[in-house]
Amino acid sequence: MPEGIAIALLTCDLRMHDSPVLHAAAAHPGTLPVFVLDEAIHGGGLAPPNRSAFLADCLDDLDASLRARGSRLVVLRGDTATETARLAHRTGAAKVHVAAAVSGFGQRREAALRDALGERLTVHEAVATTVAPGEVLPAGKDHYAVYGAYFRQWALVPRREPFPAPSRLNTPEQLGGLALDEVRRQLTAHGAAAPELAPGGETHGRRRLWSWTDTGLDGYAEGQDDLAGDRTSRLSPYLHFGCVSATELAQIATSAQSPGSEPFLRQLAWRDFHHQLLAARPDAGVNDYRSRGDHWRHDEAELEAWRQGRTGYPIVDAGMRQLLREGWMHNRARMFTASFLTKTLYQDWRAGAAHFNQHLLDADVANNQLNWQWVAGTGTDTRPNRVLNPLRQAQRFDADGSYVRRWVPELASVNGSAVHRPWQLPAAVRAKLDYPEPMVDLNDGLARFRLARGL
Ligand SMILES: Cc1cc2nc3c(=O)[nH]c(=O)nc-3n(C[C@H](O)[C@H](O)[C@H](O)COP(=O)(O)OP(=O)(O)OC[C@H]3O[C@@H](n4cnc5c(N)ncnc54)[C@H](O)[C@@H]3O)c2cc1C
Repeated sequence: MPEGIAIALLTCDLRMHDSPVLHAAAAHPGTLPVFVLDEAIHGGGLAPPNRSAFLADCLDDLDASLRARGSRLVVLRGDTATETARLAHRTGAAKVHVAAAVSGFGQRREAALRDALGERLTVHEAVATTVAPGEVLPAGKDHYAVYGAYFRQWALVPRREPFPAPSRLNTPEQLGGLALDEVRRQLTAHGAAAPELAPGGETHGRRRLWSWTDTGLDGYAEGQDDLAGDRTSRLSPYLHFGCVSATELAQIATSAQSPGSEPFLRQLAWRDFHHQLLAARPDAGVNDYRSRGDHWRHDEAELEAWRQGRTGYPIVDAGMRQLLREGWMHNRARMFTASFLTKTLYQDWRAGAAHFNQHLLDADVANNQLNWQWVAGTGTDTRPNRVLNPLRQAQRFDADGSYVRRWVPELASVNGSAVHRPWQLPAAVRAKLDYPEPMVDLNDGLARFRLARGL
């Protein structure tokens, strides 16, 4: 049996279930579950309000679950390595357990922890992904650039059983740390969160996981692009904060043997694909992965209209409004709103990614920037010049216009599919709607893009 006190340093694994870190730390006679509000992420309002509010929920929820098992969460603030080393020194902790990092920031943090703690640090498997970056590689290369080939290998990786939640933890008293209401105050002091944000935390994440696998998974293949039906799992924020384990989710989806299992696993594997790509090419978070020689336009007024959901194309505006109200957007809508910005308006994908990053609960550099690059045609899409026509997208994925009416209240009174072309409504009806004319002619946008790309 391991000796002494162990610190379980939780980072992107804010959960009790399937936590290799908590599991290892719980084997010690004393366990200190710790989270550090790192100044490099949370200092001076650096973190966007939506993710900060969600994080406050996650920490409250984790603390409640730990208390139910005789423990509690110690929240510190500062530099993660410095604060953890200080706590280890103060409590005489024999070990610090942490999950291996996947992101660039996480790797720098891990190196600093090694410097500060030396032999006392134990780094466990990466938990942010199901398959860690570098675990599957094509012969002679440092990452997969083609998703299909990656997925075939990803699907063959044996999956371990999830770790059970520890039933009891023995945590010493008098450890200090911030009170959780103060943590929430600090996290939410820098701006209001979106009004319809999902609640954070493992309890909500697991409820969603089970309700969705029970009732949603079977219909995933037919329903995943049904905008109004809202038939995807909505688990991405919980995966991002580690409230739900990607490994456990993959295992549940596999063992369900549902018609939705394979299509769902295919989507889940995209997360790992982007993480392995960014780990091998860290500059793809900022620079084109495959340059197409673009000289993007910059028009701030257009960009702002796109951000606010006032482009005059209702389906695009519905997606952008959903983002502002929920801190989340349906995948199909992410695709055509991003295509509208980068192809129809021919504006830089980095401007779009920055706006998504500011609002999305699930945003991380790998998945946000690389999905943006996929849509912009500078990433891994094998058809880099495809342009999604918003009217055709509307016809296919929101045939009766319900998604638009839900998110664009100015158009709520327009029945049926007419809502997708408000410019064709009688002038007297149009005059009563506070809704803009289309900001660009789709054919002109297409011609401009094709010219720019030399097509
Ligand atoms: C421009 C753009 C930006 C995006 N930014 C992000 C981001 O910052 N973070 C993020 O997690 N996803 C991002 N996505 C991918 C995708 O839109 C979301 O993961 C998905 O909408 C989340 O909803 P869900 O949980 O209901 O997904 P489901 O359809 O239920 O899929 C299950 C899980 O698979 C993963 N997944 C599905 N599609 C993708 C994909 N294309 N790339 C990576 N993972 C995927 C997610 O973890 C998701 O939770 C982006 C897509 C686009 C087009």
